[in-house]
Amino acid sequence: TATPTDSGTPLVKTKRRIDVAAEYAKHQRDRDTINLVVVGHVDAGKSTLMGHLLYALGQVNERTMRKFERDAEKIGKGSFAYAWVLDETEEERSRGVTMDVATSSFATKNRKFTLLDSPGHRDFVPNMISGASRADVAVLVVDASTGEFESGFDGNGQTREHAILIRSLGVRQLVVAVNKLDCVDWSQGRYADILDRLLAFLTGCGYLREDVRFVPVSGLKGTNLVRRIDDNGDSAAPDELRSWYVDETDATQGKPRAGPCLVDLLDTFTMPERPVSKAFRLAVTDFFRGGTFGSSNSVSVSGRIAQGHVQVGERVVVVPGGATGVVRSIDVDYVSEEWAVAGDSVVLMIQEVDMQQFSIGSVVCAGPPAKPIAAVQRFEAQLVVFDPQVPITNGFPALMHIQSLNVPVVVHKIIETLDQRTGEVVKRRPRHIRKGATARVEIRSETPVCLEVFKESKELGRVMLRKNGETIAAGIVTQLFSK
Ligand code: GDP
Repeated sequence: TATPTDSGTPLVKTKRRIDVAAEYAKHQRDRDTINLVVVGHVDAGKSTLMGHLLYALGQVNERTMRKFERDAEKIGKGSFAYAWVLDETEEERSRGVTMDVATSSFATKNRKFTLLDSPGHRDFVPNMISGASRADVAVLVVDASTGEFESGFDGNGQTREHAILIRSLGVRQLVVAVNKLDCVDWSQGRYADILDRLLAFLTGCGYLREDVRFVPVSGLKGTNLVRRIDDNGDSAAPDELRSWYVDETDATQGKPRAGPCLVDLLDTFTMPERPVSKAFRLAVTDFFRGGTFGSSNSVSVSGRIAQGHVQVGERVVVVPGGATGVVRSIDVDYVSEEWAVAGDSVVLMIQEVDMQQFSIGSVVCAGPPAKPIAAVQRFEAQLVVFDPQVPITNGFPALMHIQSLNVPVVVHKIIETLDQRTGEVVKRRPRHIRKGATARVEIRSETPVCLEVFKESKELGRVMLRKNGETIAAGIVTQLFSK
């Protein structure tokens, strides 16, 4: 007895049809998290800042923090203790040790965050890029100390590169943490100067003024991270900062209070929209035979739902291939549920389908009459190119990374290079793409790849190219070709 769901897909083997969109609307607040990536020049203080923030939010227990401090003192690097909150976790994770530190998520008053790829010291740039490809919002950390802002911003600094990269991957909302202001005696002039220069640059590369907020901080001292500097109890709050960092919008008693702290700004990030009403799509990151019910003709697949919703009993289709099956059970964050929506990390147990039908990078879609995702061998993308050892020319082979899939591709044709700021065409059919440039290219793959244009799906429309283990370009899918 099949009953239609609200997406029109027939339900199999369940008695009750759930209006998932309505259910979701009721529970939305408990479920939604924002994916946050922290970017900035090396040594800007990203690890220290995030480590201190997580500690101040109670994500690290005292005993562990004291241990980091002792260890850091022992090797004469006391200031690294907070950075170790993030570094250590990576190691503990790889050794499978129970964690004393929860660095992958934290909450503010109204928002829950998933911290993508903790910015540990080593290999931060490649990590940052894979984190950025899933980010909803970002914190850009800049070093305000004398000469250091300049070396991160001018020439080969990563401040610009990172800001452009995350913007080209579709991130719009940004908090800029102007860090290490303790090194310049909390100078208002220095803060204002950095703010002016960054603002000119950021609005120039496509950020809207109202989506970029600035906050003066010291990650090392913990100043202005989780508490406003006029909150009682923050004895370390420097008088100099107090004298000028005021919240002009909040002058109710005649005397303005201190400006917002970092956490206040994180708390006002706009929730990214979860595309719940679109057709169901889940990009498979892992799969295995059987599942909680242990039946042999079922396959469990895991991943994050890119769009739409799914419920137990619904028929789904696997792309490429087109095999169909029925969802027998759904786990959301390891808890059994009757339905799940875009943004949820799930394990689906699917029956009536063969294990051979799946591969990493397969996309499980809503069954007929919904239209499944396209699997294409030819598409167009807009890429930002980093610093490849060999210049990208027509016919350039690379490894394309999308979600969890790695697939060999060829940059078949460079269509044109574009101005990063205005998007205008700089050169048509150039021979190669310069380091740091933005270009529109046609990419070809020998095997069909499930893709969406970025406008339709953030999750399934972002790609990265790698070569010799290095990420050389990242960007968004702009057009799919069926032949
Ligand atoms: P990352 O490479 O961006 O992750 O930077 P780290 O967090 O490793 O910090 C680089 C160096 O700057 C370390 O020696 C930190 O102790 C120091 N540092 C970080 N934040 C501050 C700060 O707010 N004030 C001062 N004075 N030093 C800082």
